[in-house]
Amino acid sequence: MSVAVERSDFEVAARASARGRLDVYGVSKSFAVNGTQIDALQDMSLHVAAGEFVALLGPSGCGKSTLLRLIAGLDSDYHGSIQQDGAVVTGTSLARGIVFQEPRLFPWATVRQNIALGLKNAPISEAAKRDSVAAHISLVGLDGFAEAYPHQLSGGMAQRAAIARGLVNRPRLLLLDEPFGALDALTRARLQTELQRIWAHEQITMMLVTHDVDEAVFLGDRVVVLAPRPGRISRIFDIAVDRPRERSNDQLIRIRNEVLRTLEHGGEGSAPAGTARSVR
Ligand code: ADP
Ligand code: MG
Repeated sequence: MSVAVERSDFEVAARASARGRLDVYGVSKSFAVNGTQIDALQDMSLHVAAGEFVALLGPSGCGKSTLLRLIAGLDSDYHGSIQQDGAVVTGTSLARGIVFQEPRLFPWATVRQNIALGLKNAPISEAAKRDSVAAHISLVGLDGFAEAYPHQLSGGMAQRAAIARGLVNRPRLLLLDEPFGALDALTRARLQTELQRIWAHEQITMMLVTHDVDEAVFLGDRVVVLAPRPGRISRIFDIAVDRPRERSNDQLIRIRNEVLRTLEHGGEGSAPAGTARSVR
């Protein structure tokens, strides 16, 4: 990887910048499917500190993507309120980046051009755009691949490019919807480590949707466990483990097992003191 992990980055990130706070107040969202109402989210409240890394974890269909789309501003048809840094989210914004499971790169554009597309509406000079694109290609470890086309990239490299595109506007909040879900286990683990480094370096808030318990516990300051039908928060785990983290850390493994038990019991598992707390 091109950028070394520096402990100082992690210490700075832990103090958190004053930007990128997210507040979700009593959000409910339903869909009508063939005359039947599906409650995708019911009265969900969640408060994320600036610079925090939150993992949203839960089985398929519990409303993870729905919540992320509402936060991104891609859908405004819901009850409740969502605010970023105190301002109500009313649509998409350069202050929020989003990365999906599929990299969604344009096949006719190079890595550099794909990342530059993220800056299309940014109010900065062409020179500043070029610099930002180059800096983000380095940040995600794609030096040497700027002129490559998507078909010349591995799945992991394509997803690195998608992360760079999500970050190139310097958003205060990056939303990631199962970004590593389509990758093989080894590549996924490597990109999780990279994402941890990038989060520390950028000092922004990240919200990652996943159904992978190890991924959630390895990356999150908190792991928010959702339960389905209706989609709601069942437990929130604090992951008070120093960064950069090692997967073999005893405390991480203990919390992982507790999260697994919670999921197996549909969100109602028992909690040893200090590992979990209720929704705040
Ligand atoms: P997750 O991302 O956790 O797998 P989703 O947020 O995609 O879950 O979906 C939550 C629920 O809402 C599911 O029951 C799903 O079928 C339903 N749903 C999501 N999007 C739509 C839609 N556009 N139309 C109808 N139902 C939807
Ligand atoms: Mg989903």
